Amino acid sequence: MRTQVAIIGAGPAGLLLSHLLAQGGVSSVVLETRSEEYVAARIRAGILEHSSVELLASVGLGSRLRAEGDEHRGIYLQWPGERHHLDFVDLAGRSVWVYGQTEVQKDLIAARRADDQEIHYEVSDVSLHDLADSPYVTYTDKDGQSQRLDAAFVAGCDGSFGPSRASIPSPKVHEKVYPYSWFGILADVAPSTDELIYAWHPDGFALHSMRSATVSRLYLQVPNGTDPQSWSDDRIWDELATRLGHGQNGWKLNPGPITDKSVLPMRSYVQTPMRHGNLFLAGDAAHIVPPTGAKGLNLAIADVALLSKALIAQVKEKNPTLADAYSDDAQRRVWRCTHFSWWMTTMLHTSGDPFDAELQLSQLRWVAGSRAGATGLAENYAGLPLGY
Ligand SMILES: Cc1cc2nc3c(=O)[nH]c(=O)nc-3n(C[C@H](O)[C@H](O)[C@H](O)COP(=O)(O)OP(=O)(O)OC[C@H]3O[C@@H](n4cnc5c(N)ncnc54)[C@H](O)[C@@H]3O)c2cc1C
Repeated sequence: MRTQVAIIGAGPAGLLLSHLLAQGGVSSVVLETRSEEYVAARIRAGILEHSSVELLASVGLGSRLRAEGDEHRGIYLQWPGERHHLDFVDLAGRSVWVYGQTEVQKDLIAARRADDQEIHYEVSDVSLHDLADSPYVTYTDKDGQSQRLDAAFVAGCDGSFGPSRASIPSPKVHEKVYPYSWFGILADVAPSTDELIYAWHPDGFALHSMRSATVSRLYLQVPNGTDPQSWSDDRIWDELATRLGHGQNGWKLNPGPITDKSVLPMRSYVQTPMRHGNLFLAGDAAHIVPPTGAKGLNLAIADVALLSKALIAQVKEKNPTLADAYSDDAQRRVWRCTHFSWWMTTMLHTSGDPFDAELQLSQLRWVAGSRAGATGLAENYAGLPLGY
């Protein structure tokens, strides 16, 4: 088989890249280890930045998002006894949208199918070869047959555990592992809030988020290594009620049936460069952020917005300028989002140290009480324009 761009991974980065390339007249083949049903149902991120929504809408992927997603003007920031609304539209002129990554995946899969995109699911033994010269990828297809895919370029969109990241020789790696995790639940209950609540509490951080008018998504800071099955549903709701301020100024947290429990360890990871020869990394393959800033999915989208332009210019016009600049251009935004995600994480998660707690509360009061502080959070959360 031969194509112009071999894409490893059918997550949001890989599928959106194939969509953008097709719109620019560049062919691609996508290889994915999981089944189509699995990648469409994987529960992960849920917040889209302003520019992610604009990009998706501009390439025909915005109609269900606009019909079924929920536009939010901002978030609530709270600590015991206080809750403050930060209005991003007022502060930074940009909103965010609540629309699950599962829904983004479904829209991408439908669009790629309508376009007859070649996607090989349930492949194994994916291996990248001759990346400096004449790249090809070998793999075993779902029927157990060995296959070879030749391409002018390879896009490594295979997340943090795929083979692409490891194919960059001697990369510089920056990593920070946090001493806590997020215990996330999905519950079949209407959200108890109109916009997300980010809550600092002496017992640990809590977040009230949502997926739709009938499905809530909530998180608790827990120690690393926590077994989600070791917490009863009652214990989860009690802890959420305490940390989110049930009863504070008459606010109530409504519990409901929990349909999913998972624990997500938190780390920051940046690998550079994001290019080696004809291999380009995008999304989680090159960087991981803790979810507190809601940046992982948005960074994947921003990467492929840049990468698609670079590959189209290279394939159609033999112009290497954007491809040569890709790694540095992408890293500017990656580091901005890495800093913002770290800043939100360290401002909101308790460490048990009373000195740290006072610094956090002081910072929260400043962010919520000063227009300059609030604008910094708003601008970063709602997202800087693509091309930043
Ligand atoms: C459990 C979890 C919860 C998260 N929650 C949030 C959140 O609440 N908010 C937020 O902003 N972000 C969250 N994220 C991060 C966000 O989901 C990711 O940043 C986003 O999925 C990145 O997209 P991607 O396409 O780069 O990578 P991925 O979505 O990881 O896609 C990579 C794809 O490559 C495939 N693959 C892997 N290995 C191979 C191989 N050898 N060959 C072929 N294919 C391969 C994988 O199966 C996958 O489909 C979460 C991530 C995880 C893991």
